[in-house]
Amino acid sequence: MPDDRTNSWEARAEASSFYGFTDLPTVHSRGTVVLTHGEGPYVVDVHGRRYLDANSGLWNMVAGFDHPGLIEAAQAQYARFPGYHAFFGRMSDQTVMLSEKLVEVSPFERGRVFYTNSGSEANDTMVKMLWFLHAAEGNPQRRKILTRWNGYHGVTAVSASMTGKPYNSVFGLPLPGFLHLSCPHYWRFGQEGESEAEFTQRMAKELEATIIKEGPETIAGFFAEPVMGAGGVIPPSSGYFQAVVPILRKYGIPIISDEVITGFGRTGEVWGCETFDFVPDAIISSKNLTAGFFPMGAVILGPELSDRMQAAAEAIEEFPHGFTASGHPVGCAIALKAIDVVMNEGLLENVRALTPRFEAGLARLAEKPNIGEWRGKGLMGAVEAVKDKATKTPFAGDLSVSERIANACTDAGLICRPLGQAVVLCPAFVMTEAQMDEMFDKLDSALDKVFAEVA
Ligand SMILES: *Cc1c(COP(=O)(O)O)cnc(C)c1O
Repeated sequence: MPDDRTNSWEARAEASSFYGFTDLPTVHSRGTVVLTHGEGPYVVDVHGRRYLDANSGLWNMVAGFDHPGLIEAAQAQYARFPGYHAFFGRMSDQTVMLSEKLVEVSPFERGRVFYTNSGSEANDTMVKMLWFLHAAEGNPQRRKILTRWNGYHGVTAVSASMTGKPYNSVFGLPLPGFLHLSCPHYWRFGQEGESEAEFTQRMAKELEATIIKEGPETIAGFFAEPVMGAGGVIPPSSGYFQAVVPILRKYGIPIISDEVITGFGRTGEVWGCETFDFVPDAIISSKNLTAGFFPMGAVILGPELSDRMQAAAEAIEEFPHGFTASGHPVGCAIALKAIDVVMNEGLLENVRALTPRFEAGLARLAEKPNIGEWRGKGLMGAVEAVKDKATKTPFAGDLSVSERIANACTDAGLICRPLGQAVVLCPAFVMTEAQMDEMFDKLDSALDKVFAEVA
């Protein structure tokens, strides 16, 4: 008789998989959730249990898990031309069409697009582009990269160096020359008696002081997410981009908007930089670029960087960089369809229509004595657990409060993500009002259950 436990999906997953970004004690005690398929914003596990996925997979499955038009676009392109590269002066027709479309829907009048397989690679590529560009223009010392604490830019050696999270120290990262500015989270980092406007000014002053101290001629670029995502859904303090952009412009430092999460509607506009009213020099896209149906990332260069990069490449006759699957025809066909679905099938409108209900739901949860604040923009939000609301004191780390909340949610058929002591919600753009109510009802009960245990 085979032992059920060792033959279970859970046991097989654990025996055969090396997990990333996974709390291993939780996996050992609860088992892995092994999924077979999805229906709209729900996913279904091997036991037939259904979960409302309040995180759209990993921020990206914005059209749900079974969108027929996206499936059809993938199938049609697989039948037509299932793979090609974008090297040596060849690329697929889908790649050309997607580049045109991305420039068209970008905030840029014109520009050029370069493809990768992920958001990390897109950030990594952008850094190499800046290093290449500055060297070609006679400024080889312009290599330092500015990002912020709690910013998330990926996991490759360079993009992990840009990421402002302490866990990267286990890899001996960041690499030298990757500098992290303060996180513009007023609720957490505002000082006693400091207004939000004063806090923003402090962030701007820190930026300028850093530039001057390091030497403006040594800085290659500034990368920022319009709303920090994996840092815990942290919108900038009010006026943040209006304060920092002019300083960066003054010193000729390119501004890169990492829109891997915020791109294509998450904040209620197509781009997060539109929501926060600034124009970057380039945009990094991935995740919802293909509505999660294909691994793909893109660097979208605005007019000035596009011209300068083109000139730098012409000077040595090529840009020596690219991935085997850059501009993959199936990925491009899916992305073209995903953009159409988000912009023309009412998804963007639904983000806007659902936002007041989403904010009201978050605000209701924040009335609990153990929720310190709610925050968010559009359909990305978080509630932050605290032991003491007045002093904003967090729970002891070993209580794993947000893990417990997420586990209580999973038991109730809701998937949401613990992040620090916050719980993150970023529902699919196809959610209905009823599904959103289900999400908040389940999270509400999970919070009450866990706070009764730990508070
Ligand atoms: C997810 C993410 C990345 C990294 O993308 P991967 O596809 O996981 O490599 C980069 N930047 C931001 C803002 C992200 O959310």
